[in-house]
Amino acid sequence: MDEIAADPSHPRYASLLMRRRLEIAAEKGMLADSAMIAHGRGEAFDYLLGERTTESAARAARQALAALQAADRPVLSINGNVAALACDEMLQLADHLSCPVEVNIFYRTPERMEAILNHMNERKLALGLEVPVLGHAPDAQIPGLKGPRAACHREGILESDVILVPLEDGDRCNALVAMGKTVIVIDLNPLSRSAQQGSITIVDELSRALNTMLGIAAEEGHLAIDASYDHQAVLNEGLAAVLSGLKKP
Ligand code: ATP
Repeated sequence: MDEIAADPSHPRYASLLMRRRLEIAAEKGMLADSAMIAHGRGEAFDYLLGERTTESAARAARQALAALQAADRPVLSINGNVAALACDEMLQLADHLSCPVEVNIFYRTPERMEAILNHMNERKLALGLEVPVLGHAPDAQIPGLKGPRAACHREGILESDVILVPLEDGDRCNALVAMGKTVIVIDLNPLSRSAQQGSITIVDELSRALNTMLGIAAEEGHLAIDASYDHQAVLNEGLAAVLSGLKKP
């Protein structure tokens, strides 16, 4: 799908692969103009984390998977960067959870929606999965948001009880929390509004976080929710891991 010339043993291979995926997605018209800036901010945090999944991120991923498995109506939200970077993993997680994915973008234009939906549906066919891909016909609004960014599906985001929103904007994350949903965020920046406001935040690179969840699901099946899980404490551990990257010689 997205072969790059670099040797997989190259120390920046994973990072180069993600950049290449964004370039391809940009060519297909899937990305907002600010997509590369958002990615660059994430890369800076990942550099400080040592481009690895920390122990606290693995704990957050475990709790996120448990919450999604226990949900009555889970849904996975997809924006342009998520579709570009981790489309297959999002579809595989939705397949494991038997839930829909919903394309829901901040800067909504018909062209971008179509490009992302086409990409998702192509990958779904290639993977042979039956996952419902929503976003094509929004029939509801997220309360508290104005304009096209509020549009969503009643059968998807509106009526969900647990929602995974990787790389989400803070306003929309806040609006989803205000609806009483359990909001699971994946964000390399532990200080972002989304990371702070989410119910469970995984401070990790998107594809690593999703692969952690898929690996646990494959090995352990159904998990129990950890009643003692402390969102703020785990987030603070994520911040401490980032800050320890600043102190390295
Ligand atoms: P907020 O509105 O929540 O404060 P923001 O304005 O800082 O967020 P956005 O541009 O809305 O940020 O979203 C991008 C966020 O996604 C950033 O916090 C960035 O660190 C994070 N990010 C970018 N790429 C990745 C990635 N591949 N994996 C995980 N997080 C990422």
